Parts: sequence; structure tokens; C-alpha cells
Amino acid sequence: MDVVEPPRRLSLVHTPRQVVDYALQRRALLADVYSGRVGTMEVCDASPYLLRAAKFHGQPTDVTCPVCRKEPLTRVSWVYGDELKHAAGSARTPDELARMAALFEEFTVYVVEVCRTCSWNHLVQSYVLGTRGLDNRKPRRRTAAE
Ligand SMILES: [Zn+2]
Repeated sequence: MDVVEPPRRLSLVHTPRQVVDYALQRRALLADVYSGRVGTMEVCDASPYLLRAAKFHGQPTDVTCPVCRKEPLTRVSWVYGDELKHAAGSARTPDELARMAALFEEFTVYVVEVCRTCSWNHLVQSYVLGTRGLDNRKPRRRTAAE
């Protein structure tokens, strides 16, 4: 029989921690690209591996590629962490991330945006998922007054 986690615990597990946003770095780099200080060859350098991951594990976004403006960007989530063993450094779908968040104590997710047309790629966000620290939290119980 499958063990189903209660929703309250799952929502805690799936709450990203230590979220780091890279929007500022992205904007600065794009400003350099637009002004010609940085060549597009230098920033549109997604590896075949990253492009493949975008194709098979990526999530489409509404954001048009800031460099070629030809297609919406795809976001790929990479997972890293000692606990993950061979799975470390692989791309994962949101469904897989959700499952992993309930299985592992702690792992880091790096979200990278990729343009599958011109190969622009940039780190968007990183955050930590997993069950670590949840045991210390008291589950919030509804009282009759609520
Ligand atoms: Zn592009």
C-alpha cells in the first residue's frame, strides 16, 4: 500500500528555502550584451547537454528570449546535493522535484533559463528543498475559533 503524506507536511517540504534570485546579474549581463561590451557568442553558449535538458525536462515560460527575441525561454531545474548521489547534477521536472523534496533532507535546485534557438542561458534562481528542519516545526492546528 502506498503511504500518502498529509498535505500540510508536503506543502512545508515543497516550500523553497534560501531562495537566491539572479535577476540583477542577468540584467547587468544583458545591458553589457545590448551595449556591445559582451558578445552574444559569449552568452549564447548553452551546451548540447543543457539544450537537451531544456527539450526533455524544461518548463516553457512566457518570457521571450532577451537576445534573439525569437522564442519563449525554457527553464531547466538542476539538482545538486551530496544525498542525491548519482542524481546530482541532473535536470528534473517539477513533478520530480516534488517527489524528491519529500525523499531527501536537503538539496539545492538551480533554475537556468535557456533559449533553444540562440542558446542564450542564464541562472535565474537557486533554492533549497527537502525535509531538513521540518521535524522541529510544530504543526499548526486549527482551533475551534478559526
Ligand atoms: Zn534566443
